[in-house]
Amino acid sequence: MEPLHPLTRRLREVHDELHGEAGGELRSSIPALQEVDPDRFGLALCTADGHLHEAGDVTDRFTIQSVVKPFVYALALTDSGFDAVHDSVGVEPTGEAFNALVLEDVTGRPPNPMVNAGAILTGCLVAGDDATTRKQRIRDGVSAFAGRSLDDDERVSESEKGAGERNRALAWLMKAEGSLPYDVEDALDVYVFACSLEVDARDLAVMGATLSAGGWNPVTGEQVVPPTVNRTVLSVMATCGMYDGAGRWFVDVGLPAKSGVAGGIVAVQPGQLGIGAWSPRLDEHGNSVRAARACALLSERLGMHELRPE
Ligand code: GLU
Repeated sequence: MEPLHPLTRRLREVHDELHGEAGGELRSSIPALQEVDPDRFGLALCTADGHLHEAGDVTDRFTIQSVVKPFVYALALTDSGFDAVHDSVGVEPTGEAFNALVLEDVTGRPPNPMVNAGAILTGCLVAGDDATTRKQRIRDGVSAFAGRSLDDDERVSESEKGAGERNRALAWLMKAEGSLPYDVEDALDVYVFACSLEVDARDLAVMGATLSAGGWNPVTGEQVVPPTVNRTVLSVMATCGMYDGAGRWFVDVGLPAKSGVAGGIVAVQPGQLGIGAWSPRLDEHGNSVRAARACALLSERLGMHELRPE
């Protein structure tokens, strides 16, 4: 038998170690997300030159949810430019939950593109004349990051629409503040669609690897977004990606990352690799317990958060 690649060995080690980790709960406000086996756990890593390593349930599909936010932000920056996007949405961490009813005091803008209000807005700033073409742009753009054509899960988006009072409140609050000069229902439709794209842990790893390689997908060879856009996205992921747990996460793990309420996390070591991790049980911040632990252990064991890597 061929010896395992050292990175595959590490992944399997971490996966095995966390097998018994049963912390967290299925706590999403989206009813359809409760219908999942909470013990599933997939872990993948893709290097910046396109080598993929896997452990566990890496082909199980789940909805991307908020992990889509940095990618929609990247597309908005690419399509509308830095000035237009940053006039509309800030880049400051909130220290508040992902769906907090909080806008900037003076401007009425969403504080950053990683919270729901910000992502509802950036979804309006991708190329397209109406909700249908903007959804198509998001599907194509996120698929280019993943290196394969992604489907959306209508069951989950319908379920979210039936339980979306808080996001509706956020959109109307922005409308009242004059910071969402778009049709509210269209903006919510595009946002919920983006969250409902279906991925697996491998997709998240390739998407992370694309961010690690300056916006260049190492599997397909496509430059998906310009390097300047990519750099900005990584910075905002580092400061705002893990919501009100972002500071603690960066101290402990040291990697720009983004989580979603279906249990996915993408984490990036710039210049080196992307990690895709998924398991459905969430902590109180809405981050997957196992996926977060897996990223922390990999960061430690692969020396990704060292002052002086060996
Ligand atoms: N679609 C979810 C919501 O708006 C995304 C939240 C998340 O993944 O953190 O509540």
